[in-house]
Amino acid sequence: MFAKIIIDQDAKALDKVFEYRVPDDMSVQVGERVIVPFGSRNLQGFIVGLEDVAVFDESKIKPISRKIEDFPVIKKEMLELMFYMADKLHLKLASILRLFLPSEMRTDQIKELIVRYVSLSGGGQMPSSRAKKQLGIVEFLKENGKQKFSDVSNQFGYAPLFALVKNGVVVVEEKQENRVPVFDEIKNEHRVLTALQQRAVDTITENKTYLLHGVTGSGKTEVYMNLIERQLALDKTALMLVPEISLTPQVLANFKARFGEKVALIHSGLSAGERFDEWKRIFFGEARVVVGARSAIFTPIENLGIIIIDEEHEQSYVSESNPRYDTHMVAEFRRKYNDCTLVFGSATPSIESYSKAIDGEYQLVEMPVRVNGMEMPKIVVIDMLMEMRQGNNQIFAIPLIYELKNVIEQKKQAMIFINRRGFSSFQRCRQCGYVAKCTDCDVSLVYHRTENKLKCHYCGKRFRALDVCPSCGSRDIKQGAIGTERVVEELHKLFPDVRILRMDNDTTSKKNGHREILNEFRNTKPAILVGTQMIAKGHDFEDVVLVGIVDADQSLYQSDYRSIERTFQLITQVAGRAGRSASQGRVILQTYSPRHYVYRFASNYDYKGFFKKEANLRKVTNFPPYARIVRILFTHENENTVAQECKVCYNKVKEVRDAYAEDFVYLDVMKAPLNKIKNKFRYQIMMRFKLDKADEIEKKIYDCVDEKCKSSVFFEINPNNLS
Ligand code: ADP
Ligand code: ZN
Ligand code: ZN
Repeated sequence: MFAKIIIDQDAKALDKVFEYRVPDDMSVQVGERVIVPFGSRNLQGFIVGLEDVAVFDESKIKPISRKIEDFPVIKKEMLELMFYMADKLHLKLASILRLFLPSEMRTDQIKELIVRYVSLSGGGQMPSSRAKKQLGIVEFLKENGKQKFSDVSNQFGYAPLFALVKNGVVVVEEKQENRVPVFDEIKNEHRVLTALQQRAVDTITENKTYLLHGVTGSGKTEVYMNLIERQLALDKTALMLVPEISLTPQVLANFKARFGEKVALIHSGLSAGERFDEWKRIFFGEARVVVGARSAIFTPIENLGIIIIDEEHEQSYVSESNPRYDTHMVAEFRRKYNDCTLVFGSATPSIESYSKAIDGEYQLVEMPVRVNGMEMPKIVVIDMLMEMRQGNNQIFAIPLIYELKNVIEQKKQAMIFINRRGFSSFQRCRQCGYVAKCTDCDVSLVYHRTENKLKCHYCGKRFRALDVCPSCGSRDIKQGAIGTERVVEELHKLFPDVRILRMDNDTTSKKNGHREILNEFRNTKPAILVGTQMIAKGHDFEDVVLVGIVDADQSLYQSDYRSIERTFQLITQVAGRAGRSASQGRVILQTYSPRHYVYRFASNYDYKGFFKKEANLRKVTNFPPYARIVRILFTHENENTVAQECKVCYNKVKEVRDAYAEDFVYLDVMKAPLNKIKNKFRYQIMMRFKLDKADEIEKKIYDCVDEKCKSSVFFEINPNNLS
């Protein structure tokens, strides 16, 4: 027999299916991992097919060396998904397979967790009456039965325990155990559904795709849990995705409380061991509900009854790094394969998904009011230019300071949102204009006051902060736009006695950092939580009555077609944190463009109005979802190479453009806005074409890239980020 094998190497030349002979004494199945000889090396491979006859000269085909596991790690569904993604996204087969396994498994760094237990043997040589500690252990084990070795040795000391083992009084036993991720224990509260929730649950029954549009606080989570329960009762399984940043301890705790041992959690905060053990529980069918971030869409859960993608509009569902994929597309594949239900949920659906709902591709389900009937928080738009004219040069508007004082007097809580971590966006010399930049990337450095360092947010490199301008020697250094650290500092000056917490990438990088900050915030009143996007989603704090948005325009003037949509979403989500229980919340939104339509629609919670305006704009200007954008990004250490290769490709794309002149709206070649990241130069070809023949054109575009070019080449369809 012959096996078709994909070699687990991320190289263009190896991106095909190789043939190997299956030794007579070896039994293999499709999906298994094996070691095969390749040139002078032994490499890992995946069996993707088995045939009785080979395509190549059979006498030259080498045999498989050995199997890695004795079961297929890649299940049939995932194999089909691999071929589908390779075809659709032009990805290398091996790089897709890597998405399907915990990375630690591929590199063999995983050790199973072995836990040692001790118990009385019932025999052996009992300790003398003077050996108090040993006798203590014997008593303890008599009373409590089998105990963890480490617990007993921590309590009584290692030496006495060891003596008992040596004398045969105590026996040691080793067990392989699963590492369980930490979560907060809460009670499972079964709530009576509101009429709207019940209607949603009753509607979402078929094997098709739904868009659940429910305002913040409408109780979408409870709907999801009911849908999942129904599937479990039918002996089916469920997969629920939430964005990494809203994968809050609270969400996890809720699911654990409701579904107990049946839940597996997959998120970036897990240790390698925890992730591997959760993966195994999913693989072997022990876990029946998977809750996780983006990558969980690839977990090998079988017999799916429902897939739920919460906060479906979130950008993080699109993988921006190689291999690039869109979770929506993978979810659609799995829905069809499993013939199950798919739910996209959001308070602010993406323009793309909502237009699919309008076109009937998704079924729209709406929950327009909050669970407790509370009104949506009142959003007050503050014109910061006016504030300045009236002599306020602080970073907070007067009404915000006034509201904060109220919150503090009432011992309630506030959240302040600023979408930039660090102290200030850059440091610049006022005399000569020098700006500190990263040596490896074409970006200005962000000043972090707590460490007194300049940091590159693209590569992580650190540099000395400027006190003297290296170019002209001046000490007149200006700080750029404010970040979280600066906001905290200003709040400290205003309210020295109030607890002020900060939540951003810098304060949550250590394991469980998130949980600790959120728990402290939950238990402190009054308190102010300052944070980036991380505070925008999923949190449900009863006592937050005020939300301040310090620089709402920050996401508005980014140079991509989704920036207005993103601003609308951010404001709605952040505002949604306020007033979730008894008292109506209030939101103070600071802007320099108070008349921008995005603020008008957002402050009225008018999603439909916003959608109409935005969709119309995209239609007439030919932007997605009414046209397609393709960016081909070339990167390489040598600027000449990358510029040259990009140009060659561009000339070929031009031929495609000429053949489809009617469809093309735009085509150009240029340096990427960020010309250099991590010492690699970046050039790009940008194009936009109409939808009628989009798939056909896209296929032709893929062929424009020379297989042998030295640069790394990335294709992006409707990219989120154009830097
Ligand atoms: P969303 O995700 O739509 O913003 P959540 O799912 O966070 O809303 O629900 C908001 C709050 O309402 C939560 O505290 C939740 O526990 C509570 N809740 C949800 N459904 C009900 C219900 N049927 N009865 C009472 N409280 C509910
Ligand atoms: Zn200077
Ligand atoms: Zn850098």
